[in-house]
Amino acid sequence: DFIQALKLPGSKDKEDKKPELTESERKKLDIQETKKSLPVFPFRDDLIQAVRDHQVLIIEGETGSGKTTQIPQYLHEAGFTDDNKKIGCTQPRRVAAMSVAARVAQEMNVKLGNEVGYAIRFEDCTSERTIIKYMTDGTLHREFLSEPDLQSYSVMIIDEAHERTLHTDILFGLVKDIARFRPNLKLLISSATLDAQKFSEFFDDAPIFRIPGRRFPVDIYYTKAPEANYVDACVVSVLQIHATQPLGDILVFLTGQEEIETCQELLQDRVRRLGSKLKELIILPVYANLPSDMQAKIFDPTPPGARKVVLATNIAETSLTIDNIIYVIDPGFAKQNHFNSRTGMESLIVVPVSKASANQRAGRAGRVAPGKCFRLYTLWSYKHELEDNTVPEIQRINLGNAVLMLKALGINNLMKFDFLDPPPRETMVLALEQLYALGAFNHRGELTALGRRMAEFPVDPMMAKMLLASDKYKCSEEAVSIAAMLSVNGAIFYRPKDKIIHADTARKNFNHVGGDHLTLLNVYNQWRDSDYSTQWCYENFIQYRSMKRARDVREQLVGLMQRVEIEMVSNVSEVDNIKKSIISGYFYHVARLSKSGSYKTVKQNQSVTIHPSSALFEDLPRWLLYHDLVYTTKEYMRVVMEIQSKWLLEAAPHYYKPKELEDSTNKKMPKTVGRSTRTD
Ligand code: ADP
Ligand code: MG
Repeated sequence: DFIQALKLPGSKDKEDKKPELTESERKKLDIQETKKSLPVFPFRDDLIQAVRDHQVLIIEGETGSGKTTQIPQYLHEAGFTDDNKKIGCTQPRRVAAMSVAARVAQEMNVKLGNEVGYAIRFEDCTSERTIIKYMTDGTLHREFLSEPDLQSYSVMIIDEAHERTLHTDILFGLVKDIARFRPNLKLLISSATLDAQKFSEFFDDAPIFRIPGRRFPVDIYYTKAPEANYVDACVVSVLQIHATQPLGDILVFLTGQEEIETCQELLQDRVRRLGSKLKELIILPVYANLPSDMQAKIFDPTPPGARKVVLATNIAETSLTIDNIIYVIDPGFAKQNHFNSRTGMESLIVVPVSKASANQRAGRAGRVAPGKCFRLYTLWSYKHELEDNTVPEIQRINLGNAVLMLKALGINNLMKFDFLDPPPRETMVLALEQLYALGAFNHRGELTALGRRMAEFPVDPMMAKMLLASDKYKCSEEAVSIAAMLSVNGAIFYRPKDKIIHADTARKNFNHVGGDHLTLLNVYNQWRDSDYSTQWCYENFIQYRSMKRARDVREQLVGLMQRVEIEMVSNVSEVDNIKKSIISGYFYHVARLSKSGSYKTVKQNQSVTIHPSSALFEDLPRWLLYHDLVYTTKEYMRVVMEIQSKWLLEAAPHYYKPKELEDSTNKKMPKTVGRSTRTD
């Protein structure tokens, strides 16, 4: 007996004692044990008491300590959901909201969407019964429009506050205001890093609740010289770790879907060629556009003897915690939206991460055991080239959407809004100007009837305007299809390495002379005509899941169109009308071909190039409208269409002067190459 009592927990003996457990009972038990092992668990009662004692509480704790998944459950157990009120928890990222909600539903043994649910843009997985609701910060921002006092919530948790996304930053000001006249609303601001003091000061010196972290040491390695191609370097590093290091999973930080797919293919290729010489390597991607069942795979335990490598965007930096990561590979880059307030142009670019980010990434290797982080840059770079902190989004992106939302909430003097860090004045002014040109504001800066309708749509103001304008041009059906397709763009065409020629031929069949927007419309309409067939997608190298999502988004948009009383009508053959409604929203995004054969944006005179993925890549029409810009080696226009300059005057008479659009050579450049096109 004495010996028995001294046995260490976790020894073999423990498992032998419960042979009568079924699989699902065992799983539940595992979950309970995992819950108890989280760093936040010993603080459960103190935390509940602190929430009872204070209206606003700042919570600081390492990533993975259980803040997001456990705190809402604790508060629910403590009775905060008793009066038919909900606990809300915001996440900057869609993927995190979905994945965390799924996890909590599982822990509470309820069906996702019932007691525990999530809401993200275009997808509401909650019900009347929902008491714990995860949502993106953008979704909560939007909820203020229908419920300005958040009356249905007893607790609101602004989670991942350190991410400082635009919406989270604006939420700080909004919830602070509400807390003043709703004393029974509890507010938790939760953050992974050292910003707690700053948040505390902003919220009138709210107390800080610190959850002590548990972090094992992480050895950091740098490269001796900069890497020319960091995706290749990642592949090599993964294989080296796999061949030489003890078992333990690997997390690789890449910048986006394309890069992740490239890396995945290269790795699979190399592993296949090495054959049985290596232990099993399970390669799993995770990025925002990945279907959720695929995302969930990263949480599956690694089988004994195998190794898992997760290829992730910076979503895995703090939002998602994958257990058992021992090795981190960090090339040191991330994708960011950047708004240039001098030119008024916004572009997606790959930038070096900050030191704070790099350290977060490294920390992911030390959650369960001492780990290793391989930085694919030099120590010198780290010391001299990386910024200390990431600039908050509010100071570097276009504020059009945020400004429209705030105005719709009745906040008239934006310059006086309570910002944690105010946006640059010029950016604010540009947003106001843009909304004026779109017709959302009048010359006094007040919301117009059009602006109010635009605010109904959870999309940026340009797209909202395009949708509303489709009423006038009698093509609302087409406009919602295009908008829905743009929301999944980048994940529509499937291009497997071994079938590139077939895939490209299939893709060309959809090309529309009018441009990429109409090509997307073609894809959607043909899929619809196939009765939304999976087989059709397969045959045409189209990604079925993306199409399914486009269809869901489309349905939501149709609902919103009905809410603003726009009749759904179709006129697919009037291509010019479809184009005109797009221009009504996107007249800012126009470039003209110059004599030298390159494109310049009309107002700002900036050089831009057609993205190689465009069907118009070799066509070079005189006037082009683009959907967005992405900067890699050059400023690329993605999703472009040909327009006539006179349409710009029609769409935006306040914005364009006839003189700016004068054009003696209103013809195409000669370089047109014959390509298969379809106009149906
Ligand atoms: P924090 O918010 O403090 O970073 P979380 O509450 O997100 O911590 O994570 C706590 C634990 O829950 C981690 O060990 C994580 O691995 C686990 N977890 C979170 N989401 C899932 C999921 N979808 N599946 C399995 N485990 C998960
Ligand atoms: Mg969290």
